[in-house]
Amino acid sequence: MDAAAAHEIVLATHNPHKVAEFHQIIAAEHPELRVIGYDGPEPVEDGVTFAENALIKARAAAAHTGLPALADDSGICVDVLGGSPGVFSAYWAGQRKDAQANLELLLDQLRDVADPHRGATFVSTIALVVPGADGASAIEHVVEGRWPGRLAHAASGEGGFGYDPIFVPDGQEPGQERSVGEWDPARKNAESHRARAFNVLMPLLGGL
Ligand code: IMP
Repeated sequence: MDAAAAHEIVLATHNPHKVAEFHQIIAAEHPELRVIGYDGPEPVEDGVTFAENALIKARAAAAHTGLPALADDSGICVDVLGGSPGVFSAYWAGQRKDAQANLELLLDQLRDVADPHRGATFVSTIALVVPGADGASAIEHVVEGRWPGRLAHAASGEGGFGYDPIFVPDGQEPGQERSVGEWDPARKNAESHRARAFNVLMPLLGGL
């Protein structure tokens, strides 16, 4: 596809790796789309749900650029903690966003919790906002991917990031259960909460 003929869609992140990842996934199914990064002002993410935060970011990028905009928000929701850390996943152990400290705090909080009560779900939410002619948001969609599993008693594996070393997805062969930190990245990319959210998002991107 001629790049000049591509329709641009802005991703509300300043992280070039995330832009490249989204572009790769989306262009594989929609070669007419080109995902570009966002360099405008970042809104305050003061939502209390993944959907609210994703919409806050996508609306800001759509309003600033006049382009269709995507934004994602994600985290881990632990049953026995009533869905926390949830939107606070990135800074569960404090504003310094220390992934290792976050993971250790969560393990510590669940230290005496037995296996049947260690359920947790990775959640990925993606918002799509298409601006209208007058600058207002004409179309808004929010999709969600959920990846159920449970928390291990100790971290394992060197792969992935964030809570991957303590998250054991459901559906693995009994006795062979591994944390995502031990998984091959391709397998994670195919089965994760993000993959599940993208599956729902893809049909909505046709005709942009
Ligand atoms: P954000 O959506 O990029 O802000 O991510 C929020 C936080 O959720 C991350 O900092 C991680 O702590 C956690 N998280 C989200 N997705 C994953 C994942 O795939 N693996 C491990 N941790 C994740």
